[in-house]
Amino acid sequence: MLATARTFTLDGISARPVRVEVDVHRGLPNFTIVGLPDAAVREARERVRAALVNCGFEFPLRRIVVNLAPASLRKAGPGMDLAIAAALLSASGQLEWEGLARVALVGELALDGATRPVQGALAMAEAARADGAEAFLLPAENGPEAALVEGIDVVGIEALDQLPALGAGEWEPSRPQALSLQLEPSVAAPDLADLRGQPHLRRALEVAAAGGHSLLMVGPPGAGKSLAASRLPSILPPLASNEALEVARIASACGRLEGLPGGRPFRAPHHTISAAGLIGGGTPPRPGEVTMAHRGVLFLDELSEFRRDALEALRAPLESGEVSIARAGAQRSLPCRFMLVAASNPCPCGRGDADPDCSCAPYDVQRYQGKLSGALADRIDILVAVRQPSATEIGGAPGEASAAVRQRVCAARERQELRLGCGRCNAEMTPTEARACALGPAAGSLLADLYARQRLSGRAHDRALRLAQTIADIDGVEEIGADQMAQALQLRRRDHG
Ligand SMILES: [Zn+2]
Repeated sequence: MLATARTFTLDGISARPVRVEVDVHRGLPNFTIVGLPDAAVREARERVRAALVNCGFEFPLRRIVVNLAPASLRKAGPGMDLAIAAALLSASGQLEWEGLARVALVGELALDGATRPVQGALAMAEAARADGAEAFLLPAENGPEAALVEGIDVVGIEALDQLPALGAGEWEPSRPQALSLQLEPSVAAPDLADLRGQPHLRRALEVAAAGGHSLLMVGPPGAGKSLAASRLPSILPPLASNEALEVARIASACGRLEGLPGGRPFRAPHHTISAAGLIGGGTPPRPGEVTMAHRGVLFLDELSEFRRDALEALRAPLESGEVSIARAGAQRSLPCRFMLVAASNPCPCGRGDADPDCSCAPYDVQRYQGKLSGALADRIDILVAVRQPSATEIGGAPGEASAAVRQRVCAARERQELRLGCGRCNAEMTPTEARACALGPAAGSLLADLYARQRLSGRAHDRALRLAQTIADIDGVEEIGADQMAQALQLRRRDHG
């Protein structure tokens, strides 16, 4: 007898439909799975066999062939157990379910037949709806995330033995309560008030947040670079609901949707990370840190310690907002619109060559700074030198709290959206858009003067315009004045000596 069921396999952060065909016929007892299964899919044989028996079903002592179609698509992970078990039960006459071929099933099985959660349930629910499935059955633990997807029946399954009642229409389960997506950072998120003194650093953070600009902080250890970076999510605007869904889809595919803090993601990978870990890769492609930081912040502490090839690999995704991964003839792209924030010591010893205690040879300092600027300097908008806060600053009053800064940031973002369109910010302006900024005469001549004197590159010229526009948006002025332009140039001092 033959039976079919629908399921999905995760590919990057999207789900691909897979048709499970089970054929049971006379012959020597045997259980084969074909159709490019990976090791976890092949092991479904053992889980399905035990789950069937332990749920009181009979495991047919016949020749069983499971075909996963399309045969050209690589199938990964244990999420196909439930669909294989259901089709096997149907093919062996133990499950009466006329509509089985029209529903989609996903879930890993424990040996006792209980379901275990899968990764990427949100993307799979979306794929089930797109595939025209009548209902989507998945482990009860994944129910809340799948229920985020409207327009399809979502059924949470606790164990394999619930299938007969469901198939016979004797059990009408209620839809799981959908997960609530938190657009705002949680209340306990670290606050910018902890950053005392340091007005330049505060200003740089505010401008970076307001325009979505990338930021490099250079300063000695203990100057507050990591502290400043970790406060950034608290001053970024809330996620739009479609952005929150994107963030949730990625987190779901990486299996870390549970316990996801609200608001924008903040990722801080260690400097030993590989290029593939940073930008994603593997077969099937797995999202890297840049994708997990989508719509949020990617913080690279000790930038100069990162592997050169990893930093090089960041260049294209930073520019395009997506990662392309070529695998087995297929091109996959993963989204990665993030703000890059990096920190570094000024020299190998960390004190900085202006400090009399710095013992670094000039050659070492040069090489160190060369490594910083080499890979990414032309992709970084704001460069800020951070100094050790003085004793009076540390003992002084707390800084302005995140809430107040965030209000200015949000107002500036609103102005940008009016001008550039929904969800876009100044850092994403094309050269044409940057040159169309409303530039006052004094600001124009300031920039033109510098451009001529310092032989700025076209890229540096446009960057100054983008930054000045962001500062004008924070200040709430229609036209970029000399003051805003001077501040913008200050945030980019490396361009001109
Ligand atoms: Zn040094």
